[in-house]
Amino acid sequence: MNCPYCGYHDSKVIDSRDVNDGIRRRRQCLSCSSRFTTYERLQPAGLFVIKKDERREEFNREKLLAGIRKACEKRPLPAGTVDRLVDDIEAGLYQMGRAEIPSRVIGDMVMERLKNLDYIAYIRFASVYRDFTDITKLKQEVDTLVSSEAKTSDPPGQLSLLPDEGLAGLARTHKKRLRGKGAP
Ligand SMILES: [Zn+2]
Repeated sequence: MNCPYCGYHDSKVIDSRDVNDGIRRRRQCLSCSSRFTTYERLQPAGLFVIKKDERREEFNREKLLAGIRKACEKRPLPAGTVDRLVDDIEAGLYQMGRAEIPSRVIGDMVMERLKNLDYIAYIRFASVYRDFTDITKLKQEVDTLVSSEAKTSDPPGQLSLLPDEGLAGLARTHKKRLRGKGAP
């Protein structure tokens, strides 16, 4: 486990205690002395992820967590949101009771949840996961979000994709202006 602050590879355990289904360890980085917490939990045996190229890889909670955390970096989300999201996905995966799960299924689960949580994090994750090769596809995705945001009210707790006077607002003012000019 690398230090989340400086990336150094080694830390010492300064406190360790049992929690519900695992062990919580308080650690201190040996390089920058920052403190952080790790959880160790038993992973039920035999959940494998089928990669795009058909290779199998054991499901790795930390890897999933790191990917989502990166997408949510510097977003105004309450502490613990990302961990809860990963808990939720992990529980969902084990509930499926399958030994192998395509990576696409996991990616879609993440996308669905991020979409309800924070559009910026969603777009960031999508740009990596969907591997947007050109800006057009990325723009299409953003446009879809903006139009759905304009049509429906935000899901509970959703942070607006755009500031108050965003694209949706601009589009409305633009339409009004057109009407004012007597456009059809
Ligand atoms: Zn450090």
